[in-house]
Amino acid sequence: MTIYTGPVFEMARQQFLVIADHLDIPLDERDRLLFPKRAVIVACPIHRDDGRLKVFHGYRVQHHLTLGPTKGGTRFSADLNIGEVAALAIWMSWKCALTNLPYGGAKGGVTVDPRGLSRRELEAVSRRYMQEMIPFVGPHTDVMAPDMGTNEQIMAWFMDTYSMHHGRTVTEIVTGKPVASGGTEGRREATGRGVVYLAIRALERLGIRPAGATAIVQGFGNVGSYATQTLAERGLKLIGVSDHTACYYDPRGLDVPALLRHAAQHGVLAGFSDQLSFDPRELLTQKCDVLVPAAMERVIDADLAARLQCRVLAEGANGPTMPEADAVLDQRPGEVFVIPDILCNAGGVVVSYFEWVQDLQQFFWDEAEVMSKLYLVLDRAFAQVMARAERDKVPHRTAAMAIGVAKVRAAKNTRGLFP
Ligand code: NAD
Repeated sequence: MTIYTGPVFEMARQQFLVIADHLDIPLDERDRLLFPKRAVIVACPIHRDDGRLKVFHGYRVQHHLTLGPTKGGTRFSADLNIGEVAALAIWMSWKCALTNLPYGGAKGGVTVDPRGLSRRELEAVSRRYMQEMIPFVGPHTDVMAPDMGTNEQIMAWFMDTYSMHHGRTVTEIVTGKPVASGGTEGRREATGRGVVYLAIRALERLGIRPAGATAIVQGFGNVGSYATQTLAERGLKLIGVSDHTACYYDPRGLDVPALLRHAAQHGVLAGFSDQLSFDPRELLTQKCDVLVPAAMERVIDADLAARLQCRVLAEGANGPTMPEADAVLDQRPGEVFVIPDILCNAGGVVVSYFEWVQDLQQFFWDEAEVMSKLYLVLDRAFAQVMARAERDKVPHRTAAMAIGVAKVRAAKNTRGLFP
């Protein structure tokens, strides 16, 4: 099982071993729970705009199929590798189980910097990737969604490619599509809104009023921008924000509508201000009530963890906190209220599940219905995690993952081992 390597996979493995010890899972059962059921690597050749041929590598990892189809995002990023994809698929499994969705986890993607492609080239990579995946995915096998570097448009190309192949429209093959192509109301906003919904639950538990509380957000893509917008709608003051091009900090508060307009116009935060630039790493250690890492994995190391001054760490990204940082935070009990990623950013997959259900039934809900159902699921999961953490006297991440892992384990054990 050595094809899964690299720091992100190692992190998912280490986290799992903590849970396996906590749950007393026998050694011989652990590999069955941890290692992915299937992994596919494909070559995606396209013609560049200048006529040259270029091959990109694509991946899809399906972690387990015990509870239903697998479900998970598609990442386009320049240094993507199979270990990272596998780690993200494993985290999806615990997340889906924690939120009671009838899915195993999956993840996929292409090793490509989407910003370096023209729109035509991006469409070619997207369609070729889906074409290569057709033998391995399906509405009842594996359902894709967006992640870092992909968006609604790419999901529409995926859906169209799959549908052309099958000779009929199969909207339920991907989620996170535009509403105009069978997507659901609320999916675009779901992850960021869910992050803020839970951050406010955490503030309430700490006795901090959201109105006037301060927030810092790292990442200004799908998750970060909607989290920022929702924080502002709920009366919090955004004092810091960053993306891969710029970082701004102003303790008096940043102009959120202006930031959103700038990002919509330019695609990035660079150029927003000459005066407010700040060190991106140090941004995370500034005093605030809510810190939302919403960019990428492994951004909070042990050094940063020791210096965090937020009251609530709301993990919008997957895997932003390294295990060594968790160890440091565990030594600061009561100082930083961690909402672990598999709980905090679950709004995305929950509404993706609603989208899949609506597509299968061809019966669509309005945004209010989607959101109220989402908040019910998040409230239930949040309450379960809090209760488990208090009962077992363990960190929130251990509690959340223990619930997810135990659910997958119970399903495997009751089904038995085939043949
Ligand atoms: P995205 O591609 O839309 O946005 C990523 C953002 O991160 C961009 O603004 C980019 O500039 C920024 N970024 C990249 N490197 C950075 C750096 N070094 N410092 C600061 N900012 C940086 O991606 P997304 O869909 O918003 O996903 C972000 C994270 O949330 C990922 O970890 C993803 O797995 C996770 N997530 C996404 C969803 C979803 O519904 N999209 C759901 C659950 C979890």
